[in-house]
Amino acid sequence: MVSMSGSRTCYFDNNATTPVAPEVVDAMLPFLTERWGNPSSAYRFGSEVGAHLDAAREKVAALIGAEPREVVFTSCGTESNNAAWASALHVTSKRHIVTTAVEHSANTSHAEVLRKRGFDVTLLPVGSDGTLDLQSLEQALRPDTALVSVMWANNETGVLFPVAEVAALCRSKGVLCHTDAVQVPGKLPIDVRALGVDMLSLSGHKLNAPKGIGLLYIKRRTRFQPFVVGGHQEKGRRAGTENVPYIVGFGRAAELALSHLAEENTRVRALRDRVETTLLESVPHTTLNGAREPRLPNTTNLAFDFIEAEAVLMLLDRAGICASSGSACTTGSLDPSHVLSAMGLSPMRARGSLRFSLGRYNTDADVDHLLAHLPGIISRLRAISPLNPQHPDNDRYDVAAARARHEQGMAQAPGD
Ligand SMILES: *Cc1c(COP(=O)(O)O)cnc(C)c1O
Repeated sequence: MVSMSGSRTCYFDNNATTPVAPEVVDAMLPFLTERWGNPSSAYRFGSEVGAHLDAAREKVAALIGAEPREVVFTSCGTESNNAAWASALHVTSKRHIVTTAVEHSANTSHAEVLRKRGFDVTLLPVGSDGTLDLQSLEQALRPDTALVSVMWANNETGVLFPVAEVAALCRSKGVLCHTDAVQVPGKLPIDVRALGVDMLSLSGHKLNAPKGIGLLYIKRRTRFQPFVVGGHQEKGRRAGTENVPYIVGFGRAAELALSHLAEENTRVRALRDRVETTLLESVPHTTLNGAREPRLPNTTNLAFDFIEAEAVLMLLDRAGICASSGSACTTGSLDPSHVLSAMGLSPMRARGSLRFSLGRYNTDADVDHLLAHLPGIISRLRAISPLNPQHPDNDRYDVAAARARHEQGMAQAPGD
């Protein structure tokens, strides 16, 4: 990939966002130029655009095994999640939501807001490998539980939750079940019928469509209260004139995601495994964060002890390499990743953790470039790190005090 400045860019941050596929741009362009009619208009200049909206809805429905009328287009994954939660609380007098401690900030922030408004939210814990314990979910369910919302794949670690089992449990208790599946399409097959959830969120920009388009699957016969009210678009479930170019792009991206599924699980998985295995073997004091399986095929999250991930990212950036610490959505916060903290990592280990998320456009040469730079960057930083027990100044330096200062938190990381 070539950056705007013309230099080489090796992009390993596909869980934060993905490049728009050229095929998607081609599909969108006519709807940004000559075909700008309003799909709700009665004349053909509008209704012909409406036909392309229908075709896109069929394509995204096919990606998840839904019926087209079960798909509601939204502005993003965050809106889809917010709308699912708001509706679940609207259609009942129940005031309790169960979710997990490691959700995307779209949900953890919503949980905070709901608590302040007097709702009750249970955040389920995860194990040290980032997995969810179904028993803790069962124990959390109450007669006044309106919704269980559990992400399918974690954006930071790639660890998968047993959403089908969660949905089955919810069904047996008569509780609505929503899943944030934003990280899943193109990486795992999705069949909403087999999964058994009532609602599911996706976002375009995580599957090579543009930012600013998402969808909420709402199983037929699920009671739903719109979050955005106004006109009758999306069968009254999401008002506002449809974002036709982006919806058309999302449809094309859905087709591509389906056709790239096998490649993601072979070629991309092999690239991810090469990054992971090489770093674990060649860089001492390195550990994998989260369970090895079941996990997304494109994601690895590694802890490098005695260093700050932010410093590594700055040096990687100079070599034209994009990666991430934690999630791009929490940039500017001073806390270590809430996901890694919930897994029980010490603040030091969490702050030394980096995520590499690969995608369709990564090549062997990208991985070569990363592996040529990263081990050297880490040993250079460790050589000057007061956290390093092998630091030459160790006898003069109060390591315990430095570590305590460090643990209290001085540096910070970005977020998805
Ligand atoms: C990126 C992401 C979101 C947010 O999607 P937007 O379209 O950026 O609002 C939600 N959940 C997960 C797991 C994500 O990775």
